[in-house]
Amino acid sequence: MEKNFVYDIVVVGGGPAGTSAAYSAAKNGAKVALLEKEESIAQSVRTSGVTWIKDAKKFGIPPDCYHKIKNYSFCSPNNQVTIHDSEPRVAVLDVRKTFQWLAQQAAKVGADIFINTIVNDIIKDNNDKIIGVKASSAKEELEFRSKIVIDASGFHSVVAKSLGLVEQWKRFGVGAEYEAFAENVDADTWWLLVGQLYSPSGYAWIFPVSNNKIRIGVGVGKPESTVDPTVLLKELLEKKPGPIKNLGKITPIEFHYGLIPNEGLTRKTVYDNLILVGDSAGQANPLVLEGIRYAIRFGRVAGSVAVNAIESGDTSEKALTPYVEIWKKEILSKIKSASKVQNRWIELSDEEWDKEIDIIKELKPNEFIDFIKADFGLTYMVKLATHHPKLAVKQLFNLVKNTSKKN
Ligand SMILES: Cc1cc2nc3c(=O)[nH]c(=O)nc-3n(C[C@H](O)[C@H](O)[C@H](O)COP(=O)(O)OP(=O)(O)OC[C@H]3O[C@@H](n4cnc5c(N)ncnc54)[C@H](O)[C@@H]3O)c2cc1C
Repeated sequence: MEKNFVYDIVVVGGGPAGTSAAYSAAKNGAKVALLEKEESIAQSVRTSGVTWIKDAKKFGIPPDCYHKIKNYSFCSPNNQVTIHDSEPRVAVLDVRKTFQWLAQQAAKVGADIFINTIVNDIIKDNNDKIIGVKASSAKEELEFRSKIVIDASGFHSVVAKSLGLVEQWKRFGVGAEYEAFAENVDADTWWLLVGQLYSPSGYAWIFPVSNNKIRIGVGVGKPESTVDPTVLLKELLEKKPGPIKNLGKITPIEFHYGLIPNEGLTRKTVYDNLILVGDSAGQANPLVLEGIRYAIRFGRVAGSVAVNAIESGDTSEKALTPYVEIWKKEILSKIKSASKVQNRWIELSDEEWDKEIDIIKELKPNEFIDFIKADFGLTYMVKLATHHPKLAVKQLFNLVKNTSKKN
């Protein structure tokens, strides 16, 4: 049986970008459908879920959705540093709880959520413009027509790909992670582990989730490396190099696996009747492959810009451009700077990593956090590059500053 629905806005994908777009669109008065292929929101976890307490608060995410961290350890084969902060700034999200909270916010303001509904085709008008999507759910074929479609389907960008507008990302990160019980957890401290011992073109991590639970994982960059991170992760748990041995017995209780684009902000993100947001738009910080706060922020922007366009009676690419202007203003130069640092980091040998850790040792907690966050304001970078007492730190920030200047 075929079922036909008509909405103002159809959002494809119930991740942080899609739930946030649905929330702001419905809050601003649109009739919204959110389509998610899995049986529940965040059924599969594909992320480590680390974000920043400041951003979580700004989004209104309840504090019981995250664990707070205040110490940051960085470890190379022969060097390590722990930066101790006076207050926690990092939030390790309970991913399922947070993403379901985001979905509930959307439902509360009137968005209809269709779980177990996989979008498999698009509907176009005679001028080849998108006017909806086709989906299947429990053997039923469904059609959703709308004035605007928001592609928030993550890495695979299913809508934009069906329209032939984008190709599969060629440069991306692949991560494998266990959520695991561990005997000895320092619940205040994260670990980033770099060098060949941990990952040939990426890094490994330990993020505490509670007093006896961690997320331990490893990421590799494609196409630079052909290694499967799942194999690396198993090896790390067997061999327990570096600080992993201090965790004592590690008992995995859930496996996470995911892909994240790493090509910078190269994609066009608006077309007539269509917006791309979140990973679908490549909105992630390449340095540490962080995308959740951008997905939420720009999901909300996409939802409200879409409603404004519908209200003005013009849903053309031009009418949706304010969305592009906002995300570009907020993150374009920062992401370019982060890419520059990432390119430097990818090429470091183990010995060079040992030296890089010495540079990181010189950073104050707020400098380190801004660096990892890619919060590279030009004035701030100029200050660090000019006035930092250590030459190596000056050089590092000069690299960032020179990228920011060009934008
Ligand atoms: C290993 C790993 C670790 C990461 N760690 C962090 C981290 O610590 N902090 C951070 O900020 N970011 C992290 N990220 C990145 C972050 O997870 C993403 O940037 C973020 O989830 C993007 O949100 P999104 O909503 O755009 O996409 P997604 O979260 O991928 O959501 C897309 C949704 O669309 C649904 N969907 C897909 N196809 C269809 C279809 N055909 N029909 C209907 N629904 C569909 C999917 O089921 C999914 O629910 C990590 C990524 C990886 C891979």
